[in-house]
Amino acid sequence: MTTVTTPRLTPEDQARLGAEIQRRLGIRTSRDEPLARFTTMRVGGPADLFAVARNLFELRALARFARTHELPLFLLGRGSDLVISDRGVPGLVVHVRAEGIRVDGPRITVEAGVPMARLATVAREAGLSGVEFALAIPGTVGGAVWANAGAHGSDVRTVLVEASVLSGADGIESAFDADGLGLAYRESRLKHPASRVPDLVTWATFALVPAERSVIDGRLDEIRRWRRLHQPVGMPSAGSVFRNPATGPSAGELIDRAGLKGHRIGGASVSQKHANFIVNDGHGTAADVRRLADLVRGTVAGRFGVELQPEVVFAGDWSGWEEGAALRREVDQ
Ligand SMILES: Cc1cc2nc3c(=O)[nH]c(=O)nc-3n(C[C@H](O)[C@H](O)[C@H](O)COP(=O)(O)OP(=O)(O)OC[C@H]3O[C@@H](n4cnc5c(N)ncnc54)[C@H](O)[C@@H]3O)c2cc1C
Repeated sequence: MTTVTTPRLTPEDQARLGAEIQRRLGIRTSRDEPLARFTTMRVGGPADLFAVARNLFELRALARFARTHELPLFLLGRGSDLVISDRGVPGLVVHVRAEGIRVDGPRITVEAGVPMARLATVAREAGLSGVEFALAIPGTVGGAVWANAGAHGSDVRTVLVEASVLSGADGIESAFDADGLGLAYRESRLKHPASRVPDLVTWATFALVPAERSVIDGRLDEIRRWRRLHQPVGMPSAGSVFRNPATGPSAGELIDRAGLKGHRIGGASVSQKHANFIVNDGHGTAADVRRLADLVRGTVAGRFGVELQPEVVFAGDWSGWEEGAALRREVDQ
């Protein structure tokens, strides 16, 4: 789990940097912007500075500004893989809303802020098959490349031609294929940045295959049906909390067998419908979610000897969080 100890911006820094971004880049920023509403889990405190990048020019300019000013940068897509700390995020948070799309024969090139579900419907309109699984992913293309998101037997790796990445270390932008990005099960090299400014996905191209509209529609319907049956659709969550172990039962099966379905801490509980989801009843805090995730990890480790690894990102200022405290108590009981 990520523990960030980056210092917060002072009110003076917030004012100075915000004014400089406005003057130099023409982009408005807000201070102490509450982030919960930008996430599907609906938890999380404020960003020191917050900006929306509406196109690739703004996105690149903000990333360049952060790098040259040594300003911590956090990229926010649709916040569907995040548990943002109640104390929020230090530095500059950029909400990626660059949403350009180009269909070129059997290839679709999309900017990082395009929702994956939109990619699925654009492909359907163009009579192209291969990204139906994207309908199931409530995040952006940038977040999906970062995580190698996947569902229903497919993932980004399967269909990606290349994605363009602006390096946080040197500001150079280059395109990489799936191998160059290190895409594997919920894994990429973007998850392990070499510098404080993260690598940034700006756009991605996918190779698809022509198919009958009725065949594509059938797949999309099947995905919708499966989701409604198996996932707590409509409840705030961040999708699967843990990755599936490489062998043996899935994370959900282990959590279910440990008897944790419905287990609650504050406003967070283990979903009755899918044990690998933690849902927020609307009153939960990030601390509730993380304590519950800790408890689930500890209980599963104690019962089955399996160390579940988080799939969600615990982002922002978690300094002082005593990792594993709740789980040790549970195992000891
Ligand atoms: C109900 C539900 C169902 C889900 N089902 C699935 C599923 O079936 N399969 C699956 O894989 N996931 C699933 N997820 C998780 C999530 O939707 C995916 O991981 C998605 O790819 C996250 O994208 P995002 O834009 O929301 O990223 P965010 O949550 O906003 O960010 C996640 C990480 O990506 C980074 N990031 C965001 N944009 C960029 C960018 N442009 N460049 C570089 N880094 C970036 C962020 O900094 C952060 O570290 C589900 C989530 C929910 C809520």
